[in-house]
Amino acid sequence: MRVLITGVAGFIGSHLAERFLEEGFYVIGMDNFLTGSPDNIAHLFEKKNFRFIHYNVVNYIYVEGPVDLVVHLACPASPVDYMNHPIHTMKVDSLGTLNTLGFAKLKGSRYVFASSSEVYGSAQVHPQPEDYWGYVNPVGPRSVYDEAKRFSEALCMAYHREHGLDVRIARIFNTYGPRMRRNDGRVIPTFIEKALRGEPLPIYGDGSQTRSFCYIDDLVDGLFRLSVEEGLAGTVVNLGNPEEVSILELAQKVIELSESSSKIEFLPPRDDDPPRRCPDISRAKKLLGWFPQISFEEGLKITFRWFVGL
Ligand code: NAD
Ligand code: UDP
Repeated sequence: MRVLITGVAGFIGSHLAERFLEEGFYVIGMDNFLTGSPDNIAHLFEKKNFRFIHYNVVNYIYVEGPVDLVVHLACPASPVDYMNHPIHTMKVDSLGTLNTLGFAKLKGSRYVFASSSEVYGSAQVHPQPEDYWGYVNPVGPRSVYDEAKRFSEALCMAYHREHGLDVRIARIFNTYGPRMRRNDGRVIPTFIEKALRGEPLPIYGDGSQTRSFCYIDDLVDGLFRLSVEEGLAGTVVNLGNPEEVSILELAQKVIELSESSSKIEFLPPRDDDPPRRCPDISRAKKLLGWFPQISFEEGLKITFRWFVGL
């Protein structure tokens, strides 16, 4: 089986590529290193079943030979990154999705799209099930990401309905773990880095906003199951850990774990920052037999050790 993974040099892509290689797949990885790094995949180059193509998926895509599965992950995921690259973000999750879908149609591949809990926006339903349509500001600073993900989902379903393509959509909730960029601006790497340096941990707003953090190995397992299970064409599924924590609790946990002298610094809230986020994962449990195995406490410890370099 041959899989094309776009965004392979990113945080999730590099871990997912490892999993597919372990499962005996031939992996073709594509990336333009916008927010990813060659360091994340350097160890894969020695594997005979891995091939890397340095490429911007906004352009027409072609790869020789059969491809059984396309997983489209390419897209900046950190709010700091996508707000630094707003137009690129919109291109990679519109033109990039179109190109990868067209390629999957040509090759007769199955297609998995990495969507996001951001399609729910500032959700008014809690926890969020897949049949909730979301509450998104179409012109706010986050809209470049949220609306591109929503457009991509619609495009996936159009290819499914019009061409019968076997598409599957994963709505991924905040995921964390080793290989996140130290300065990517996402909350866990930021807090760990600040705590290690004894600098204040910046909280936007009063820290009462919540997130539900999923450890990378669990997420990868969910994505893998979604990719290989039969009979799931047209499926949309939440993948995330329903253990919900406030950002203030997170900051306190990181300070405790790192035995740091850091204080907390409260900054003005970010525009359109979703106040609560928590996945309803009943569908993932039912269809994939999937639920997270790694507690937040445990995952945070592993991640912390990686950031320290242990
Ligand atoms: P990341 O920024 O670490 O990885 C994204 C990768 O895509 C990078 O390697 C980047 O260089 C590459 N890329 C960007 N534009 C490209 C282009 N035009 N052509 C080729 N490659 C390109 O982010 P991540 O956390 O690994 O996220 C991966 C996917 O999962 C994204 O689609 C993201 O929206 C989705 N997602 C992630 C999370 C999370 O918490 N990590 C949550 C929801 C959704
Ligand atoms: N956050 C924070 N300090 C930081 C980075 C993030 O208080 O240095 C907050 C942010 O306002 C949001 C939550 O942490 O409420 C998660 O932010 P992140 O950028 O990791 O991802 P998001 O879930 O917003 O896409």
